[in-house]
Amino acid sequence: MTHFSPKKCLSKVKGCLTKLGNTLFPQSCILCHSRITTAPAFLICEECEQSLPIIQTSCALCSTPLSTNSNCANLNSAKSNSDLCGYCLNHQRPWQNCIVSFHYSEPISSLIHRFKYQHELRLIGTLSQKLIEEIRYRDSPLPDALVPVPMHSKRLAKRGYNHAAVLAKQISTQLNIPRKNIVKKTIETTQLVTLKESERKNALKNSFELNKNYLSDIKNWHIAIIDDVMTTGTTATKIAKLLAKSGCENIEVWCIART
Ligand SMILES: [Zn+2]
Ligand SMILES: [Zn+2]
Repeated sequence: MTHFSPKKCLSKVKGCLTKLGNTLFPQSCILCHSRITTAPAFLICEECEQSLPIIQTSCALCSTPLSTNSNCANLNSAKSNSDLCGYCLNHQRPWQNCIVSFHYSEPISSLIHRFKYQHELRLIGTLSQKLIEEIRYRDSPLPDALVPVPMHSKRLAKRGYNHAAVLAKQISTQLNIPRKNIVKKTIETTQLVTLKESERKNALKNSFELNKNYLSDIKNWHIAIIDDVMTTGTTATKIAKLLAKSGCENIEVWCIART
């Protein structure tokens, strides 16, 4: 005759739940390959998640990390001078807010590279989760539209997808914000990552245009420009200036990582 043991019973239930989890979410972590039982969209184990290079205290306008003992004595006051980096204190940014989740360092830089150049679109859930959470739980209104940084049609045909549009689609689905192709890229520029800042400005001159269908609509709109990585902010500046010129009232920049 066997006796009922609560301990044994609990361990059996635990075993069944683990088996069920492994059946429902049979992935291994994309970074350390250990088995994970988290939600399917998030392909990283808890341990690796803890090691992601999250940006903590940063400039409210460009997400440059700020040291905790300088320049941030007044963090409760949104976008006060003490929230800004040296560059943003001395230069005007044509947008009002910026949210970036990670430093562009490992393992995020490799994941972005895989997402962008190796067609690993499944990584978008992993890469965008932190950004989406931050927007979902912040205490300010959502924008009227998401505007992904556009890609020239030639490059789009070559790559098969615009990574910024994939990111915008993910945010749009999760937060129920319309995604609009308000801006288009009219001139194909050489790979911007290989250029110096002064060369970037020249390459980007007149390379973006507003889609005529939206010209009369966007007055007083609140818009978030969406891109994967912010480097110098030149691309976002160009697009934000176009939007502001057409009457957009509130412009934000949302990106996955900051170099
Ligand atoms: Zn892992
Ligand atoms: Zn800044």
